[in-house]
Amino acid sequence: MNRTKWALTAAVVVACVGQQGGLQRTVPAVMTGHVLTQVNPVVTDAAVPAVSVRCRTNAKPLAVLAARGRPGQRASYGTFVNRVRTHTGMLTADRRGTFTTSTAVTDHRRVGVILQLSSRTVVNAAVTPSCSKLMVATPPAPAPTATSGSRGNATSYTLNYSRNGAVTRWDPCAGDIHVRVNAANGGTGALADAQAALSALSSGTGLHFVYDGSTTFVPSTGNSSSQPATVVIAWAAPGTGAGTSDYYESGAIGEGGWRSSGTSTDGGATWNWKIVQGFVVVDPGASLPGGFGNGATRGALLLHELGHVAGLGHTSDGSQVMYPMLGPSTVGSYGAGDLAGLTAVGAAKGCTTAS
Ligand SMILES: [Zn+2]
Repeated sequence: MNRTKWALTAAVVVACVGQQGGLQRTVPAVMTGHVLTQVNPVVTDAAVPAVSVRCRTNAKPLAVLAARGRPGQRASYGTFVNRVRTHTGMLTADRRGTFTTSTAVTDHRRVGVILQLSSRTVVNAAVTPSCSKLMVATPPAPAPTATSGSRGNATSYTLNYSRNGAVTRWDPCAGDIHVRVNAANGGTGALADAQAALSALSSGTGLHFVYDGSTTFVPSTGNSSSQPATVVIAWAAPGTGAGTSDYYESGAIGEGGWRSSGTSTDGGATWNWKIVQGFVVVDPGASLPGGFGNGATRGALLLHELGHVAGLGHTSDGSQVMYPMLGPSTVGSYGAGDLAGLTAVGAAKGCTTAS
């Protein structure tokens, strides 16, 4: 018997921080936080739309796991770190219908949570966080080059992986990826920068990110089902009220991420996963200079966040756009490692549904 299960991936939240003061200072830039989470919850009931996992960067990284239920609903749960059960118990959804629990994590430890919401509804999420501790870093100065592709090392990229071990990426055989932009608060040239960054992303991946027009939508946790385009880029302040986004980690000026879905025709023994939705939010308060010049720019931030949308993680190579910090040495174009990563998640890899 064939069965189809749906797996919705809550937002992958990637905070990207550039703490440049706009001044010529010699003090090292401080990375106040960066985060990379991958979530692959399996949801067998459409009434349970999402599980999200946050991994906060501070002295004690914490994965916060949340699932949507009904107000007052009770559920048993277990959390796992590196597949070792760390907590079990009962949870009660708050008055907004949200179950939450958290567990301390160490870099690269796989964190999971299972919620038994009813006899037939199980929410199963896992995350492999890359939560660096708060650190002071001075990015190495990139070698000045004329062409973006030759900057840095072609091995300087990281990818995300689904629970089945496959690289998490878009399906290049699923057609154009439609994008809408909410640039009302982005300032002069914001839309043009977004379009230019999308062009660079399309060029790097071979995927077709197509600008479809404007929107007033602001991506935030819990509203992905009403997102008006497959990818939305929005300038929106951090917050929980109308017109703001609650995706921002502490100190972040931008966030980018994706949702993936998985299907199985054998009852869940094997799954095909692919990215099906992406988002970028940019804090207008960051007041980055427009364009793609050297240093921390609006363009570089967009390239970085869109790199996450394509499926890239962070790199420790400070010459690459996917370095988790913008600073004076940032270059506003994809480097050799960035481009190698975009190729690794791009059209050249073929259909994701091919077995
Ligand atoms: Zn980032």
